[in-house]
Amino acid sequence: MKGAINWSDYYKTDPEKITALKSAFKANKIYAMALMPVRGSQGFRKLDYEYTEKELNVKEVMDKLEESHFNVFGLVIKDTDGACMWDTKIGWNPINRDILGEFCDVGKDRNIRIMVSFTSMNDAYQGVIHPERVSIHGTTGKKSGIYYKKGEISTHNEGEMRIDLPEGVSFKDYKKKVPFLTEKIDEKRGKVRGARGKGFIPTTSFMCPNSKHVDYLLKLVREVVNQYSISGFFADYIRYDGAFKDLCCCDRCLDKFRKNHGTKAKIIKSSEWYDFKSDTIAEYAQKLQSVIKKTTKDCTSGWFCLPGPKKMFTRKRLGQDWTKLSSILDVSSPMEYPYLMGTRDDGWYWGKLGNFFYWYFIRNMKKRIHEFKSPILAVTNSVECNAIEMLKQMRGFDFGLGISVFKYFGTTDDQWLALKKYAEEEIGLENLT
Ligand SMILES: [Zn+2]
Repeated sequence: MKGAINWSDYYKTDPEKITALKSAFKANKIYAMALMPVRGSQGFRKLDYEYTEKELNVKEVMDKLEESHFNVFGLVIKDTDGACMWDTKIGWNPINRDILGEFCDVGKDRNIRIMVSFTSMNDAYQGVIHPERVSIHGTTGKKSGIYYKKGEISTHNEGEMRIDLPEGVSFKDYKKKVPFLTEKIDEKRGKVRGARGKGFIPTTSFMCPNSKHVDYLLKLVREVVNQYSISGFFADYIRYDGAFKDLCCCDRCLDKFRKNHGTKAKIIKSSEWYDFKSDTIAEYAQKLQSVIKKTTKDCTSGWFCLPGPKKMFTRKRLGQDWTKLSSILDVSSPMEYPYLMGTRDDGWYWGKLGNFFYWYFIRNMKKRIHEFKSPILAVTNSVECNAIEMLKQMRGFDFGLGISVFKYFGTTDDQWLALKKYAEEEIGLENLT
């Protein structure tokens, strides 16, 4: 197969875990497409509740997936804004719909399983209503134009999503609905990844993983797995904020750290501190696993990880220990988005940059894939790249179980054709939908 890498030369996993996964998804190969309902109908740079509430057509989405032979649908039921896309008594649902319920209903008689993605520590809404649960900076500094002070909460301008006011609604009124909205506006669309959005800039918060935010999350998880018949529950943002090195230095975290590692252990820069961070995240993963499995054995648990250098990034900043987390949760899902860094469609330089990141992401996986103790199902992007780049990623990052593609809106007609052809000719689905 063109461009495929024989990943079994680099990594082995428990065959029983693979069998369990295949039977949970009732497929030999997983072919998944993801949808982020709150990000509107174009790409993922907008936060658009009006679109979700009034226009998102669930049946149309499922028909399109079926036509393209996808056998798994990944729905982001909670994005970084914090909105809950289901009928919830505990969380915040700003739209008048039960999106998850609608997809479950429409998907019932189709050969498409539903998995959900659940943003955990990053939560803009909770950051506003529970500032006492937001993680705290341990130093004073400046990062990518953001100034922060020791002791302050880590609520900052959101990098990715922008908001347009709905027609005829004033800023003041809209802020009542979306309390994390700010009056700052991004006017121009840039080519650098973090500068592609246009519109009002919201804030976002990384919550403290030792705060009551975790209890809140677990209640939401219980509610979802209880109410809906889903095949997979994947935790996203199961980590600290990757932009800063000094989180979280709240009293809760410092007390717990000293209790576990002694009063002499150094905060922020010590191997004890990094262990503490990854243990904290693993503790959440363990609780998540228990809640899911106690409710239903049929639901596969998973987590999304950001590829990158182990020491500098995943250990020191994110607190994601791949071995620990993949020993707890059923499936690991590395987010392999090299062509989000640059696409040939934006010009020669951006194409080169994308290619460089593709090479780097592959190399990084070759080096680190042995750290995973579970099956791996990578997610790669169709949005903001072209069909050739998309296919290259799909072939490169299929670690044997299939591939997930991010995301439904933003995929071009060219890409939809390529996706269908890939399903028919390459991925190896046993029965096409
Ligand atoms: Zn904390």
